[in-house]
Amino acid sequence: MDVPTVSVLVPVAVDTCYTYRVPPGMALAPGDIVAVPLGPRTVLGAVWDDPVDGSVGHNRLRPVAHRYDAAPLERSLRAFVDWVAAYTLNPRGMVLRMVLRSPQALEAERALALLARIGPPPERLTPAREKVLAALGAGPPRSKAALAAAAGVSPGVVDGLVAAGTLGLVAVKPPPAVAPPDPDHGARPLGPEQRAAADALMAAIGTGGYSVSLVDGVTGSGKTEVYFEAIAATLRKGGQALVLLPEIALTGDFLDRFARRFGARPAEWHSEVPAKSRERVWRGVADGSIRAVAGARSALFLPFSALGLIVVDEEHDAVYKQDEGVSYHARDMAIVRGHIAGFPVVLSSATPSIESRVNADAGRYTRIELKGRFAAARLPEIRAVDMRRDSPERGRFLSPVLATALAETLAAKAQSLLFLNRRGYAPLTLCRACGHRFQCPNCSTWLVEHRFRGVLACHHCGHSERRPDRCPNCDAEDSLVACGPGVERIAEEAAALLPEARITVLSSDLFGVREMRQQLEAIRTGGVDIVIGTQLVAKGHNFPLLSLVGVVDADIGLAHGDPRAAERTFQLLAQVTGRAGRAGGESRALVQTYAPEHPVIAAIVAGDREAFYAREIAERRRTQLPPFGRLAGIVVSGDDRASAHGYATALRRAAEEGGPILVLGPSEAPLAVVRGRHRFRLLVQAPRAADLQGYIRAWLARAEPPRGGVRVQVDIDPQSF
Ligand code: ADP
Ligand code: ZN
Repeated sequence: MDVPTVSVLVPVAVDTCYTYRVPPGMALAPGDIVAVPLGPRTVLGAVWDDPVDGSVGHNRLRPVAHRYDAAPLERSLRAFVDWVAAYTLNPRGMVLRMVLRSPQALEAERALALLARIGPPPERLTPAREKVLAALGAGPPRSKAALAAAAGVSPGVVDGLVAAGTLGLVAVKPPPAVAPPDPDHGARPLGPEQRAAADALMAAIGTGGYSVSLVDGVTGSGKTEVYFEAIAATLRKGGQALVLLPEIALTGDFLDRFARRFGARPAEWHSEVPAKSRERVWRGVADGSIRAVAGARSALFLPFSALGLIVVDEEHDAVYKQDEGVSYHARDMAIVRGHIAGFPVVLSSATPSIESRVNADAGRYTRIELKGRFAAARLPEIRAVDMRRDSPERGRFLSPVLATALAETLAAKAQSLLFLNRRGYAPLTLCRACGHRFQCPNCSTWLVEHRFRGVLACHHCGHSERRPDRCPNCDAEDSLVACGPGVERIAEEAAALLPEARITVLSSDLFGVREMRQQLEAIRTGGVDIVIGTQLVAKGHNFPLLSLVGVVDADIGLAHGDPRAAERTFQLLAQVTGRAGRAGGESRALVQTYAPEHPVIAAIVAGDREAFYAREIAERRRTQLPPFGRLAGIVVSGDDRASAHGYATALRRAAEEGGPILVLGPSEAPLAVVRGRHRFRLLVQAPRAADLQGYIRAWLARAEPPRGGVRVQVDIDPQSF
C-alpha cells in the first residue's frame, strides 16, 4: 500500500530536506509549517517543494507530529530561502531558521472568553448580584475576575449569575496587534521638487511589478515623504509594505512621522522588541492583518502574505550587512525578494552606495534625484580646517577656529554637534616610564580607555579591566597617559572651553536604547547645547536646532587600507555635515583634517558629490573591484595560530589556478586575533560574469575538511577587506 510522504526542510545546518510519513487524516501542502521528529527532539519545519526521497523504506519513515494552523510560507518565500542559501553558500536549513519563529508564534491567538449579559435578571437578585450587574452595566464584556473585583464581591457570586443564565461567555477576538495604516490619512502637500520626484517614482513603479528605484536626494530633501507615496499606493492595492531602516531601535522619530502620514504606527521588528510582541508581529504579517512593518534587516525573512513593496532607507549603510551566521546583505536580498515575488523595491539615500549608483547609471535601476533641500532649508556651508596650520595646543583636539565657532553658536542659542567616530576616552593607554601599552588579552587590539566608567575595554570581545593607578609592567606611579581622543575626551575639552554649555555624549556604550531615545528627544527639543557623538549621530536623525557641525578628525577612516575606505568616509562625512541646518537658517560645518587636498575631503568641502562618484567609480573599474568584479572572503579561524595558518595554506593549495578567478592569501585577517581565535583570510577575486559560488563550492568540497577546532567561514561580497 502506498504511504503518503512529504519533504520537510528543518531549521538546522543541513541543505537537504528530510522525508516524513503523513499520518492518516493530515493534509499537507508545500509551505505548511509542521513539527517533526529529528533524532531525539521534535523541531519545527516547513513542507518544501523538493521531491521526496523514495530510497528510504516506508517502515523506517517517521511521521509528521503536528501541522500548525499558521498561514503557510508562500511559494515566493520558499524560493527566496533557496536562493539566499545558494548565493551565500549556507545550508538552506540555516536560512529557514531566520524565517521560522517559536511554536508560540505559530499558534493562532486564542479568542478571549469574556462574560456578557445574555439573559434576564435572576429570580433571586441579592445585593451582591446587583452590584455585579451594575458593574457590568452596558459596558463591554469582562472577565470573571475583573467583574468580581469591580463589584467588590467574590468570584462565586459571578458564577451564580452564570448558572442562572443571566451572564454567559462570549468569544471576543483579540484586538489587532496594530491598527491598519490609512493611505489617505494625513498626506502633506509636497514641494515642487518632491512632487516631481514622487511622480517619477510612481511612474517607475508602474503597475507594481518588479523594479528597482533609487531615490537619490541630498540630506533634508524630503525623501521620506517621497517614498511614503509608494507605500500609500501599495496599501491602496491591498499590499503589505516593509521599510528597512538602519538603527531602527533609535528612530522613534520615523515611527511618529509614519503615524502622522498614515494614522497608525507600523509594526516594529528588531532585536529590542520584546519576544511576545515579535510573535504577534510574525503572526500578523503571516495572516495579513499587519499591513506595514518598519524593521531591521532580519525583517526581510518575515512570512508576509501579500508583500507588495520594500523600501530600503539609507541603503548605503553598512549595518545592512550581516556578518555572523548567514552573512547576507539586506539591501541586495531585498532586491532578490522583490525580483522573485514580482514587486517594486525602493532604495533611498543621500549618499548612495557605489553599487547602486553604478546600477542606476547602467539603467538597471531608475534614479530619481532631489538636488535641493525641502522648502527654505539650505545645505550648510562647509569649510576644511587645515590642522597643519590651525592646530590646537598639545593634548587638545579642537582647533581655535572650531572653538570660536562653538562659542559663537552657543552665544546665538543654537546647537552644535561634534563628531568623532571613536567611543571612549582614548584609543590607547601607555606608560611614559617603560612604554608598556595596554593590550586585550584575547584580541590583537589596544584597550580603549572609558573614563566615565573607569575601565579599559576591548571593543571586539568585550573584555574590560579597571584602569590601574600604577603601571602593571614597571610599577611606576602616575606614569600612564591617554593617547589620542575619543568622544569622552572631546566632551571634557568642550566643557573646559564652555563651562556653561549643556553637553551630552551620544555613544552606544554609555546608554541603553531607552535612554538614547530620551537623549535624542532632548536634542530635538533644545535641551542640549553641544552634542558629541560617534557615527550613531550621523544616521538619519532630524535635529532641527542644529546649526554647527564640527568634524573632529575627518581623516580617521581614510587611513584604512580597505578599498571601501574612500566611499565610507565620504558617506559618513556627507551624512554628518548634513545634519546641520535642516530646519532652515544659516548653518555651517567645519571639517578638521591634515589632508584637505585628499579627493574625498575636497569633494565634501566643495559639496561636489558628482566629483566623488565619478572618481571612485573610475577607480573601481580600473581595479576591477565591486561592482565591476566580484569578491568573496574566506576566513579560517582556530584556537591556535599554527593550525589555522596550516589549514588556510592547505586550502590555498587546493584552489584551482589558471582560470579567470584569482585566490589571494592567506594573510592575517585585519583583526588577526578575536576572542582568542586566530584568523587568516583568503580573498577570492572574480570577474562579474564568473560563477563565484560554483567555484568556491567545488573548491571547498575538494579540500580536506578542517579538523581540530578550525572553522571556515565564507563571506560573499565582503564589506571590508
Ligand atoms: P531626507 O530623508 O531626505 O533627509 P526628510 O524626509 O527627513 O529628508 O525631510 C527633511 C525635513 O523636511 C523633515 O523635517 C520633514 O519633516 C520636512 N518635510 C519634508 N517634506 C515635507 C512636506 N511635504 N511638508 C512638510 N514638511 C516636509
Ligand atoms: Zn578583546
